[in-house]
Amino acid sequence: MIKDNLAIVHQNIRKACESADRNTDEVTLIAVSKTKPVSMLTEAYACGCRDFGENKVQELTSKYEVMPKDIRWHMIGHLQTNKVKYIVDKVCLIHSVDSLKLAQEISAQAVKKQVNVSILIEVNMAGEETKFGVKPQEAEALIREISLLPGISIKGLMTIAPYVEDAEDNRQYFKQLKQLAVDIIYKNIDNVNMSILSMGMTGDYVTAVEEGASCVRVGTGIFGERQYLV
Ligand SMILES: *Cc1c(COP(=O)(O)O)cnc(C)c1O
Repeated sequence: MIKDNLAIVHQNIRKACESADRNTDEVTLIAVSKTKPVSMLTEAYACGCRDFGENKVQELTSKYEVMPKDIRWHMIGHLQTNKVKYIVDKVCLIHSVDSLKLAQEISAQAVKKQVNVSILIEVNMAGEETKFGVKPQEAEALIREISLLPGISIKGLMTIAPYVEDAEDNRQYFKQLKQLAVDIIYKNIDNVNMSILSMGMTGDYVTAVEEGASCVRVGTGIFGERQYLV
């Protein structure tokens, strides 16, 4: 099942790239494995997945321990400062940085462990109250401050678009995130790179790829619906 799902997602990404005149290798598929058992991650790994996304520190580190070491782990969920120390040397990219305080802690832990941590700035494009992320108009100021910290490198932007029935409704937010990245590139800020745009989930990754996503984060479309205990 995972194998078939992955084939479908890859094919959709290929088609979206074709229609947008992009190369398929510009897009990284992150398999969002939160709440899913290691057996399912192992199955995805056997199908060639090397990029996995998790949103909880404890879950990421316990899967990290048992899964093969060539996996690139992506922290995609809200991160508390007191948990940064557990993951700085285990993740390839933290997608969800939205405050100076969090960036300062990532920087401090990176320096301590002598690693360089790549991060994205999470932007709340639709202004949803319930979502984390900085406001688009505050992104540049935050980026300028973070760019001065040691041990941390800004690689781009991330957004979580609203949950919608029709992915077309989110196209505007993907366009705006891309434009924000372009605006920031033109500011030429030292130590800031805008090569990664992390946008698009199961419901809207095709639209996101058409609008320039370089990372899409797909969970349900690969592993099936998540079950949360209540
Ligand atoms: C859970 C999650 C995803 C994947 O969502 P699906 O709709 O299952 O593809 C993507 N990004 C973030 C930040 C998530 O928390």
